[in-house]
Amino acid sequence: MKDYELWVHWKQGDDCSNFITQAGDVKQGLLNWAENMEYNVKKIRRLVDLFGDKDLDIDACTHSIILNGDEDILKRAVEEELIDCIEYDEEEGENIEEDLDLTNKSQFKEVNQIVKNCIKCEKELTFQEFYDTYGRKSNEEKTLKLWSNNTIHFFCCSCFRKMKCKSCDNYLEFIVIDDILYFFCRNCVVDLISKIQDNLTTNNHDKFAKNILKLNNMLKNVLIEFK
Ligand SMILES: [Zn+2]
Ligand SMILES: [Zn+2]
Repeated sequence: MKDYELWVHWKQGDDCSNFITQAGDVKQGLLNWAENMEYNVKKIRRLVDLFGDKDLDIDACTHSIILNGDEDILKRAVEEELIDCIEYDEEEGENIEEDLDLTNKSQFKEVNQIVKNCIKCEKELTFQEFYDTYGRKSNEEKTLKLWSNNTIHFFCCSCFRKMKCKSCDNYLEFIVIDDILYFFCRNCVVDLISKIQDNLTTNNHDKFAKNILKLNNMLKNVLIEFK
């Protein structure tokens, strides 16, 4: 089973306070919050645009907004990161991904013996779940190496999925540098890097240095932060 879910905003007080805390300044926090809302408004408009004259049904209550309608358009909307596709097992109600046939691969047998717990909810992680969460963005060899490293700890699938960028609401990605796990928002990092490039071409050295520091903080700041 799968649901197509639209995510726009969380409880307004929590949302507002998150933005202010992250900016470290009330007015800047409010501006970032406004920018985030503008981004979400664009997302909704683009979604309506995408459906054109095709069918679209919304099943919305409390926190969830589930979309039903033309499957091709829904898939396209996922590709454009307007909505999320959440797959789940009907019986257990848990999120699932397509299975890797781990049992048939000798190198996976060994790693299946390793036990790790989620650093957020402390739930026991299996290699399968780890692979589904992190492996899709990496390759098998790299994923195996990470899993076998005792100094590295991870989030379970459902905790990892909740990690969104507080500025632009994109899902965070992760990177491991010297055995430390960092989370970052590709969107915001790319945005900042292009600003840094502009600063260089316009010889604006003050802003250049400032933005380099900001980039540094960006990688650190998102480390183990939750919405
Ligand atoms: Zn967890
Ligand atoms: Zn972001």
